[in-house]
Amino acid sequence: MGLSETFSMMKEFFSSYIAYYAEIKKQDKWIRQFAEKKGFRINPHWMFYTNLKIWITESQQAFGKRYCPCFEPSGSEKLNGKLLCPCQFVETEVEERGTCHCVLFGRGDLTEEDFKQAENRLMKEYRVALNFSDGVLDTRGMVKDKLRNLPIPDSLHQVKRALGLVDKHLTVVVESEAEASNLKKLASFRNLSYQHQENGDGGFAVTLTKP
Ligand code: SF4
Repeated sequence: MGLSETFSMMKEFFSSYIAYYAEIKKQDKWIRQFAEKKGFRINPHWMFYTNLKIWITESQQAFGKRYCPCFEPSGSEKLNGKLLCPCQFVETEVEERGTCHCVLFGRGDLTEEDFKQAENRLMKEYRVALNFSDGVLDTRGMVKDKLRNLPIPDSLHQVKRALGLVDKHLTVVVESEAEASNLKKLASFRNLSYQHQENGDGGFAVTLTKP
């Protein structure tokens, strides 16, 4: 990740933190209650934890529900029901690898260092090189999570990164109609204009334009 991308991410983090301050407090309440009930430890790192709460809040505002901060809603309502945070995979993942996928919750005995290592694993999965060139981001072809059969990183996370790299227009190629529809909701939520067309190879090309 280059310096300009890091700067743009930090800028976005602090402006979202200010904008969602009240919502972040609300997220904190149910997260603590759930962790206490299950005997989990919450991620102890302020910035990482706050970022997850920002993403959960954005998901709630864009899609109307509290979806997992790491996976956008899919085309399957059945799977989407399982993605609501705390998701139906949390216990399996905490048991199998110590933390949930997004490293929000971990086993009660995990140390700060254990959380750090889990965060590094997640960052490595999400900070992949983007397939981005001349203002076009092709989000397809990412590896799939084995429990959810959803891409890592999903197209929304890729788009959020790529938006920081363009001045005005970003064209995004996605695999499914559900992903195009999610981008439409993101566009409305972030005050971007949205256009989409079938790509000819089974995918969809979405153009997002900044005001
Ligand atoms: S993986 Fe963690 S953060 Fe994501 S929905 Fe499940 S419990 Fe929530």
